[in-house]
Amino acid sequence: METENHRIVNTQQLFLATVESLENEINELKTQNFILKAQLDEKVAQQEHLLQANKCMQAEIVDLKLTETALRLSLDRLLSEKNDLEIILDTTTSHSDTIEAMMYDKALLLAREVTIDGLTQIANRRAFDQRLEKEWQRLARESLPMSMLLCDVDFFKRYNDRYGHPTGDECLRTVAKAIDACIRRPADLAARYGGEEFAVILPNTEREGATFIAEQICQVIDDLAIPHEASYVSNHVTISIGISSTMPDYRVSPKNLIESADKGLYLAKNQGRNRAVFSGS
Ligand code: GH3
Ligand code: MG
Ligand code: MG
Repeated sequence: METENHRIVNTQQLFLATVESLENEINELKTQNFILKAQLDEKVAQQEHLLQANKCMQAEIVDLKLTETALRLSLDRLLSEKNDLEIILDTTTSHSDTIEAMMYDKALLLAREVTIDGLTQIANRRAFDQRLEKEWQRLARESLPMSMLLCDVDFFKRYNDRYGHPTGDECLRTVAKAIDACIRRPADLAARYGGEEFAVILPNTEREGATFIAEQICQVIDDLAIPHEASYVSNHVTISIGISSTMPDYRVSPKNLIESADKGLYLAKNQGRNRAVFSGS
């Protein structure tokens, strides 16, 4: 009996130990289960976080794609604007060249208009005055003589009346060209003095040289043989010339030289026209 009791006790103890062990195992498993659950929760949270991050990134990618498209459109627009600007720049540059060329032509034309007589295309009165003053000073400095010719078409009023003003203009052009062709030195100058009168400046030329040129001019005009049926001295156009010569002086005005030539012209008219007459000052 005692042995039986003893066996029951042992069995009971064994059972209790087993129960206790099982309980420990259950507790252990519970603990592990708890840890695994926590880990699972953590993983779920992480997954959730990653999903959110992924969504954000997708949105950012969409944003970036939109930005890229907008930038491409801007770039295309800028390139086309650049092209337009280059075309405008080219056009402006070629226009500026044209404008510059036009201004240059205009400046040349103005410079010409200031010194050239519109009708006859030889030097005008302004160019004559300037050259006379300049040469007067130069010759006074260098103690060299100066001569002057004043040429006037004979009976030109009658020419206009007979042939008409436009033909008169044409005649003046021809006469001017012929007078201009008679002078050759660079410092010489033939100019339209006014109306049907022409003046010639002959620097460094004495009375003899001036008379030679004046007579040559008379001859050349005579040789042109421009019909002038209304003239009282010839049946063609002739001119009269007054000649003067002097030594330029700073203290004296060149006007005296012109006045002397005018006196010579008056004498040439009075002596029968179609001639050159010298007049001393
Ligand atoms: P003289 O022999 O005394 O010089 O006589 P003239 O008729 O030439 O002189 P006058 O001074 O009486 O006349 C000059 C004429 O010249 C009058 C004018 O109509 C003419 N004349 C002046 N300038 C021009 C012009 O630019 N063209 C034309 N066709 N005639 C002009
Ligand atoms: Mg006259
Ligand atoms: Mg005249």
